[in-house]
Amino acid sequence: MRVPAYAAPAAGQPLAPTTIERREVGANDVLITIEYAGICHSDIHTVNGDWGPQPFPVVPGHEIVGVVAQVGADVTGQQVGDRVGVGCMVGSCGRCDNCRNGDEQYCSGGGMVPTYAGTDRDGTTTQGGYSTHVVVDADYVLTVPAGIDPAAAAPLLCAGITTYAPLRKWGVGPGTRVAVVGLGGLGHMAVKLAHAMGAEVTVLSQSLKKQEDGLRLGADHYFATSDPETFAALASSFDLVVNTVSAPIDVDAYLGLLAVDGTLVNVGAPPEPLAVNVFSLLNGRRSFAGSMIGGIALTQEMLDFCAEHHIGSEVEVIAADQVNEAYERVLASDVRYRFVIDAATIG
Ligand code: NAP
Ligand code: ZN
Repeated sequence: MRVPAYAAPAAGQPLAPTTIERREVGANDVLITIEYAGICHSDIHTVNGDWGPQPFPVVPGHEIVGVVAQVGADVTGQQVGDRVGVGCMVGSCGRCDNCRNGDEQYCSGGGMVPTYAGTDRDGTTTQGGYSTHVVVDADYVLTVPAGIDPAAAAPLLCAGITTYAPLRKWGVGPGTRVAVVGLGGLGHMAVKLAHAMGAEVTVLSQSLKKQEDGLRLGADHYFATSDPETFAALASSFDLVVNTVSAPIDVDAYLGLLAVDGTLVNVGAPPEPLAVNVFSLLNGRRSFAGSMIGGIALTQEMLDFCAEHHIGSEVEVIAADQVNEAYERVLASDVRYRFVIDAATIG
Protein backbone atom coordinates (compact mmCIF):
# COMPACT_ATOMS: atom_id res chain seq x y z
CA MET A 1 0.00 0.00 0.00
CA ARG A 2 1.12 3.57 -0.68
CA VAL A 3 1.27 5.86 2.31
CA PRO A 4 2.30 9.49 2.89
CA ALA A 5 5.75 10.16 4.36
CA TYR A 6 8.47 12.79 4.71
CA ALA A 7 11.74 11.91 3.00
CA ALA A 8 15.18 13.38 2.41
CA PRO A 9 15.67 13.09 -1.37
CA ALA A 10 19.48 13.26 -1.19
CA ALA A 11 22.26 13.89 1.33
CA GLY A 12 21.89 17.24 3.06
CA GLN A 13 18.64 18.09 1.25
CA PRO A 14 15.59 19.30 3.19
CA LEU A 15 12.90 16.72 3.89
CA ALA A 16 9.79 16.95 1.73
CA PRO A 17 6.40 15.21 1.54
CA THR A 18 6.21 12.11 -0.62
CA THR A 19 4.53 8.72 -0.73
CA ILE A 20 6.18 5.35 -0.13
CA GLU A 21 5.22 1.71 -0.51
CA ARG A 22 4.63 -0.43 2.59
CA ARG A 23 4.62 -4.19 2.14
CA GLU A 24 1.50 -6.33 2.48
CA VAL A 25 0.91 -7.53 6.05
CA GLY A 26 2.61 -10.95 6.24
CA ALA A 27 1.70 -13.77 8.61
CA ASN A 28 3.93 -12.44 11.40
CA ASP A 29 3.53 -8.73 10.60
CA VAL A 30 1.72 -5.88 12.29
CA LEU A 31 0.32 -2.83 10.48
CA ILE A 32 0.64 0.23 12.70
CA THR A 33 -1.17 3.54 12.28
CA ILE A 34 1.59 5.91 13.43
CA GLU A 35 0.63 8.59 15.95
CA TYR A 36 4.03 10.10 16.77
CA ALA A 37 7.60 9.85 15.54
CA GLY A 38 10.50 11.34 17.50
CA ILE A 39 13.40 13.18 15.87
CA CYS A 40 16.71 11.62 16.92
CA HIS A 41 20.05 13.23 16.16
CA SER A 42 20.87 9.95 14.35
CA ASP A 43 18.17 10.87 11.80
CA ILE A 44 20.10 14.07 11.15
CA HIS A 45 23.51 12.34 10.95
CA THR A 46 21.97 9.92 8.44
CA VAL A 47 20.28 12.41 6.13
CA ASN A 48 23.28 14.73 6.24
CA GLY A 49 25.51 11.85 5.15
CA ASP A 50 27.70 12.15 8.27
CA TRP A 51 27.87 8.35 8.49
CA GLY A 52 28.52 7.74 4.79
CA PRO A 53 26.37 7.12 1.71
CA GLN A 54 22.70 6.22 2.24
CA PRO A 55 20.04 4.66 -0.02
CA PHE A 56 18.16 7.90 -0.75
CA PRO A 57 15.37 8.81 -0.63
CA VAL A 58 15.43 8.16 3.14
CA VAL A 59 12.37 8.40 5.38
CA PRO A 60 13.93 8.73 8.84
CA GLY A 61 12.27 7.97 12.16
CA HIS A 62 13.01 5.20 14.65
CA GLU A 63 11.06 6.44 17.64
CA ILE A 64 7.62 5.32 16.57
CA VAL A 65 4.42 5.06 18.61
CA GLY A 66 1.07 4.13 17.15
CA VAL A 67 -1.93 1.86 17.24
CA VAL A 68 -2.19 -1.61 15.72
CA ALA A 69 -4.51 -1.50 12.69
CA GLN A 70 -4.09 -5.07 11.42
CA VAL A 71 -2.23 -8.24 12.42
CA GLY A 72 -1.07 -11.23 10.38
CA ALA A 73 -2.49 -14.73 10.92
CA ASP A 74 0.41 -15.91 13.13
CA VAL A 75 0.64 -12.86 15.41
CA THR A 76 -0.24 -13.64 19.02
CA GLY A 77 1.45 -10.82 20.96
CA GLN A 78 -0.47 -7.86 19.55
CA GLN A 79 -4.10 -7.14 18.77
CA VAL A 80 -5.88 -4.50 16.73
CA GLY A 81 -6.21 -1.38 18.89
CA ASP A 82 -3.11 -1.99 21.04
CA ARG A 83 -0.75 0.97 21.55
CA VAL A 84 2.67 -0.14 20.37
CA GLY A 85 6.15 1.16 19.65
CA VAL A 86 8.93 0.49 17.18
CA GLY A 87 12.53 1.51 17.78
CA CYS A 88 15.72 1.38 15.74
CA MET A 89 15.51 -2.25 14.69
CA VAL A 90 12.91 -4.17 12.65
CA GLY A 91 14.75 -7.44 12.09
CA SER A 92 17.71 -9.68 12.93
CA CYS A 93 18.55 -13.34 12.29
CA GLY A 94 17.04 -14.51 15.60
CA ARG A 95 19.36 -17.54 15.69
CA CYS A 96 22.90 -16.32 16.46
CA ASP A 97 24.24 -16.22 20.03
CA ASN A 98 23.74 -12.48 20.27
CA CYS A 99 20.12 -12.64 19.13
CA ARG A 100 19.42 -15.51 21.51
CA ASN A 101 21.03 -13.54 24.35
CA GLY A 102 18.69 -10.61 23.73
CA ASP A 103 21.34 -8.51 22.00
CA GLU A 104 19.66 -8.49 18.59
CA GLN A 105 21.25 -5.11 17.87
CA TYR A 106 24.60 -6.94 17.70
CA CYS A 107 23.24 -9.76 15.47
CA SER A 108 26.13 -11.71 13.99
CA GLY A 109 23.90 -13.49 11.50
CA GLY A 110 23.93 -10.69 8.96
CA GLY A 111 23.34 -7.80 11.32
CA MET A 112 20.21 -6.14 12.60
CA VAL A 113 17.83 -4.57 10.11
CA PRO A 114 17.66 -0.85 10.90
CA THR A 115 14.20 0.74 10.84
CA TYR A 116 15.23 2.98 7.94
CA ALA A 117 17.96 3.01 5.32
CA GLY A 118 18.47 -0.71 5.94
CA THR A 119 17.95 -3.74 3.73
CA ASP A 120 14.85 -5.64 4.76
CA ARG A 121 14.55 -9.42 4.56
CA ASP A 122 12.73 -9.08 1.20
CA GLY A 123 15.60 -7.03 -0.24
CA THR A 124 13.74 -3.72 -0.15
CA THR A 125 15.07 -0.64 1.66
CA THR A 126 13.42 0.01 5.03
CA GLN A 127 11.67 3.36 5.49
CA GLY A 128 11.12 4.86 8.93
CA GLY A 129 8.48 6.49 11.03
CA TYR A 130 8.03 9.97 9.50
CA SER A 131 4.96 8.47 7.88
CA THR A 132 1.36 7.56 8.59
CA HIS A 133 1.70 3.77 8.61
CA VAL A 134 4.38 1.11 8.93
CA VAL A 135 4.41 -2.69 8.60
CA VAL A 136 6.77 -4.39 11.05
CA ASP A 137 7.59 -7.98 12.04
CA ALA A 138 5.68 -8.53 15.30
CA ASP A 139 8.87 -9.73 17.07
CA TYR A 140 10.22 -6.15 16.88
CA VAL A 141 7.05 -4.43 18.06
CA LEU A 142 6.96 -3.24 21.69
CA THR A 143 3.96 -2.77 23.95
CA VAL A 144 3.57 0.82 25.19
CA PRO A 145 2.12 0.50 28.69
CA ALA A 146 -1.01 2.45 29.56
CA GLY A 147 -0.12 5.51 31.61
CA ILE A 148 2.66 6.87 29.37
CA ASP A 149 1.44 9.68 27.12
CA PRO A 150 1.97 8.41 23.55
CA ALA A 151 3.89 11.50 22.37
CA ALA A 152 6.18 11.32 25.42
CA ALA A 153 6.60 7.57 24.88
CA ALA A 154 7.93 7.86 21.31
CA PRO A 155 11.47 9.01 22.26
CA LEU A 156 11.76 6.12 24.72
CA LEU A 157 12.09 3.79 21.72
CA CYS A 158 15.58 5.15 20.96
CA ALA A 159 16.70 7.83 23.44
CA GLY A 160 15.19 5.81 26.30
CA ILE A 161 16.64 2.40 25.51
CA THR A 162 20.02 3.79 24.38
CA THR A 163 20.57 5.31 27.81
CA TYR A 164 18.75 2.65 29.86
CA ALA A 165 20.96 -0.13 28.43
CA PRO A 166 24.34 1.20 29.67
CA LEU A 167 22.86 2.28 33.02
CA ARG A 168 21.73 -1.33 33.53
CA LYS A 169 24.89 -2.88 32.04
CA TRP A 170 27.12 -0.92 34.44
CA GLY A 171 24.90 -1.69 37.42
CA VAL A 172 23.67 1.80 38.23
CA GLY A 173 21.69 1.98 41.46
CA PRO A 174 21.63 3.74 44.81
CA GLY A 175 25.09 5.04 45.60
CA THR A 176 26.32 5.09 42.00
CA ARG A 177 27.76 8.43 40.92
CA VAL A 178 26.69 9.05 37.32
CA ALA A 179 27.58 11.98 35.09
CA VAL A 180 25.63 12.67 31.90
CA VAL A 181 27.44 14.68 29.24
CA GLY A 182 25.08 16.71 27.01
CA LEU A 183 21.50 17.54 27.97
CA GLY A 184 19.71 16.81 24.70
CA GLY A 185 17.37 13.99 23.70
CA LEU A 186 19.49 11.12 25.02
CA GLY A 187 20.97 13.14 27.87
CA HIS A 188 17.68 14.16 29.42
CA MET A 189 16.50 10.54 29.35
CA ALA A 190 19.76 9.41 30.98
CA VAL A 191 19.15 11.93 33.78
CA LYS A 192 15.58 10.78 34.39
CA LEU A 193 16.43 7.07 34.24
CA ALA A 194 19.58 7.23 36.39
CA HIS A 195 17.70 9.31 38.96
CA ALA A 196 14.85 6.78 39.02
CA MET A 197 17.42 4.00 39.56
CA GLY A 198 18.58 5.84 42.67
CA ALA A 199 21.91 7.17 41.41
CA GLU A 200 23.51 10.52 42.28
CA VAL A 201 23.30 12.33 38.95
CA THR A 202 25.43 15.17 37.61
CA VAL A 203 24.82 16.95 34.30
CA LEU A 204 27.81 18.20 32.33
CA SER A 205 26.45 20.65 29.77
CA GLN A 206 28.19 23.22 27.60
CA SER A 207 26.67 26.03 29.65
CA LEU A 208 24.41 26.60 32.65
CA LYS A 209 21.49 27.69 30.42
CA LYS A 210 19.48 24.54 31.13
CA GLN A 211 20.49 24.13 34.78
CA GLU A 212 17.00 24.66 36.17
CA ASP A 213 15.58 22.04 33.80
CA GLY A 214 18.36 19.58 34.59
CA LEU A 215 17.70 19.78 38.32
CA ARG A 216 13.95 19.47 37.75
CA LEU A 217 14.49 16.35 35.60
CA GLY A 218 16.32 14.65 38.46
CA ALA A 219 19.94 15.81 38.45
CA ASP A 220 21.57 16.47 41.82
CA HIS A 221 24.35 18.66 40.38
CA TYR A 222 24.90 20.65 37.21
CA PHE A 223 28.18 21.95 35.78
CA ALA A 224 29.26 23.82 32.64
CA THR A 225 31.98 22.10 30.61
CA SER A 226 32.95 25.47 29.12
CA ASP A 227 34.35 26.31 32.57
CA PRO A 228 37.80 24.64 32.92
CA GLU A 229 37.32 24.70 36.72
CA THR A 230 34.64 22.02 36.27
CA PHE A 231 37.22 19.40 35.29
CA ALA A 232 39.43 20.19 38.28
CA ALA A 233 36.52 20.28 40.73
CA LEU A 234 35.10 16.93 39.57
CA ALA A 235 38.36 14.98 39.04
CA SER A 236 38.11 11.23 39.91
CA SER A 237 34.54 11.54 41.20
CA PHE A 238 32.26 9.37 39.01
CA ASP A 239 31.63 5.66 38.64
CA LEU A 240 30.02 6.08 35.24
CA VAL A 241 30.12 8.91 32.72
CA VAL A 242 27.54 8.60 29.92
CA ASN A 243 28.58 10.69 26.94
CA THR A 244 25.61 11.59 24.71
CA VAL A 245 27.33 14.34 22.72
CA SER A 246 26.82 14.22 18.94
CA ALA A 247 30.22 15.87 18.28
CA PRO A 248 33.77 14.83 19.25
CA ILE A 249 34.75 15.45 22.88
CA ASP A 250 38.10 15.60 24.67
CA VAL A 251 38.05 11.97 25.86
CA ASP A 252 41.03 12.37 28.18
CA ALA A 253 39.39 15.24 30.02
CA TYR A 254 36.29 13.13 30.70
CA LEU A 255 38.29 10.00 31.62
CA GLY A 256 39.93 12.17 34.25
CA LEU A 257 36.52 12.53 35.93
CA LEU A 258 36.33 8.77 36.64
CA ALA A 259 37.10 7.18 39.98
CA VAL A 260 39.16 3.96 40.08
CA ASP A 261 37.46 1.28 37.89
CA GLY A 262 35.12 3.89 36.46
CA THR A 263 33.78 3.74 32.90
CA LEU A 264 33.20 6.39 30.27
CA VAL A 265 30.53 4.95 27.99
CA ASN A 266 30.01 6.65 24.67
CA VAL A 267 26.55 6.59 23.17
CA GLY A 268 27.08 9.73 21.12
CA ALA A 269 28.02 8.81 17.56
CA PRO A 270 30.12 11.51 15.88
CA PRO A 271 31.67 10.27 12.64
CA GLU A 272 35.15 11.53 13.53
CA PRO A 273 37.63 9.25 15.37
CA LEU A 274 38.32 10.23 19.00
CA ALA A 275 41.87 10.36 20.36
CA VAL A 276 42.73 8.72 23.69
CA ASN A 277 45.92 8.96 25.69
CA VAL A 278 46.26 5.44 27.14
CA PHE A 279 47.64 6.86 30.37
CA SER A 280 44.13 8.22 31.01
CA LEU A 281 43.03 4.56 31.12
CA LEU A 282 46.04 3.10 32.95
CA ASN A 283 45.71 5.60 35.72
CA GLY A 284 42.71 4.45 37.75
CA ARG A 285 42.14 1.24 35.74
CA ARG A 286 39.50 3.17 33.80
CA SER A 287 37.47 1.90 30.85
CA PHE A 288 36.29 3.60 27.68
CA ALA A 289 33.28 1.78 26.25
CA GLY A 290 30.47 2.12 23.75
CA SER A 291 26.87 0.97 23.66
CA MET A 292 24.36 0.77 20.80
CA ILE A 293 20.60 0.97 21.46
CA GLY A 294 19.39 -2.18 23.29
CA GLY A 295 17.71 -5.52 22.66
CA ILE A 296 13.97 -6.09 22.34
CA ALA A 297 13.41 -7.65 25.79
CA LEU A 298 15.41 -4.88 27.45
CA THR A 299 13.43 -2.27 25.51
CA GLN A 300 10.20 -3.72 26.88
CA GLU A 301 11.73 -3.76 30.38
CA MET A 302 12.65 -0.07 29.93
CA LEU A 303 9.10 0.83 28.84
CA ASP A 304 7.66 -0.99 31.85
CA PHE A 305 10.21 0.73 34.13
CA CYS A 306 9.18 4.11 32.71
CA ALA A 307 5.49 3.38 33.29
CA GLU A 308 6.20 2.30 36.85
CA HIS A 309 8.26 5.43 37.56
CA HIS A 310 5.98 7.80 35.59
CA ILE A 311 8.77 8.66 33.16
CA GLY A 312 8.25 10.04 29.68
CA SER A 313 10.34 12.24 27.44
CA GLU A 314 10.02 16.04 27.56
CA VAL A 315 8.65 16.68 24.11
CA GLU A 316 7.83 19.51 21.76
CA VAL A 317 5.20 18.16 19.37
CA ILE A 318 5.51 19.61 15.87
CA ALA A 319 3.69 19.37 12.55
CA ALA A 320 5.54 17.48 9.84
CA ASP A 321 6.17 20.64 7.81
CA GLN A 322 8.29 21.97 10.71
CA VAL A 323 10.74 19.07 10.51
CA ASN A 324 13.53 20.95 8.69
CA GLU A 325 13.36 23.79 11.19
CA ALA A 326 13.48 21.24 14.03
CA TYR A 327 16.63 19.70 12.52
CA GLU A 328 18.28 23.14 12.57
CA ARG A 329 17.32 23.61 16.18
CA VAL A 330 18.69 20.20 17.21
CA LEU A 331 21.98 21.02 15.46
CA ALA A 332 22.10 24.27 17.44
CA SER A 333 21.54 22.37 20.75
CA ASP A 334 18.20 24.22 20.94
CA VAL A 335 15.96 21.28 21.79
CA ARG A 336 13.98 20.81 25.01
CA TYR A 337 14.32 17.94 24.88
CA ARG A 338 12.91 15.99 21.94
CA PHE A 339 10.96 17.06 18.88
CA VAL A 340 8.16 14.65 18.08
CA ILE A 341 6.23 14.74 14.80
CA ASP A 342 2.44 14.46 15.02
CA ALA A 343 1.86 11.89 12.27
CA ALA A 344 -1.68 13.18 11.73
CA THR A 345 -0.04 16.18 10.01
CA ILE A 346 1.69 14.02 7.37
CA GLY A 347 0.06 13.80 3.96
P1 NAP B 1 20.85 15.95 20.77
O1 NAP B 1 19.44 16.01 21.23
O2 NAP B 1 21.32 16.88 19.74
O3 NAP B 1 21.77 16.06 22.09
C1 NAP B 1 23.17 16.17 22.03
C2 NAP B 1 23.63 17.15 23.09
O4 NAP B 1 25.05 17.18 23.08
C3 NAP B 1 23.22 18.59 22.84
O5 NAP B 1 21.93 18.88 23.31
C4 NAP B 1 24.27 19.36 23.59
O6 NAP B 1 23.96 19.34 24.98
C5 NAP B 1 25.51 18.48 23.41
N1 NAP B 1 26.36 18.96 22.30
C6 NAP B 1 26.02 19.11 21.00
N2 NAP B 1 27.07 19.57 20.29
C7 NAP B 1 28.09 19.67 21.15
C8 NAP B 1 29.45 20.07 21.01
N3 NAP B 1 29.96 20.46 19.82
N4 NAP B 1 30.23 20.06 22.11
C9 NAP B 1 29.74 19.68 23.31
N5 NAP B 1 28.46 19.30 23.49
C10 NAP B 1 27.66 19.30 22.44
O7 NAP B 1 21.20 14.51 20.17
P2 NAP B 1 20.63 13.06 20.62
O8 NAP B 1 19.48 12.71 19.78
O9 NAP B 1 20.55 13.01 22.09
O10 NAP B 1 21.83 12.14 20.12
C11 NAP B 1 23.14 12.31 20.64
C12 NAP B 1 24.13 11.44 19.91
O11 NAP B 1 23.84 10.07 20.20
C13 NAP B 1 24.09 11.54 18.39
O12 NAP B 1 25.42 11.43 17.90
C14 NAP B 1 23.30 10.33 17.98
O13 NAP B 1 23.56 9.88 16.68
C15 NAP B 1 23.77 9.33 18.99
N6 NAP B 1 22.90 8.19 19.20
C16 NAP B 1 23.50 7.02 19.46
C17 NAP B 1 22.74 5.91 19.74
C18 NAP B 1 23.40 4.61 20.10
O14 NAP B 1 22.80 3.57 19.94
N7 NAP B 1 24.60 4.65 20.62
C19 NAP B 1 21.35 5.99 19.71
C20 NAP B 1 20.77 7.22 19.46
C21 NAP B 1 21.55 8.32 19.21
P3 NAP B 1 24.29 20.63 25.92
O15 NAP B 1 23.57 21.79 25.26
O16 NAP B 1 23.70 20.23 27.23
O17 NAP B 1 25.75 20.79 25.96
ZN1 ZN C 1 17.91 7.36 17.64
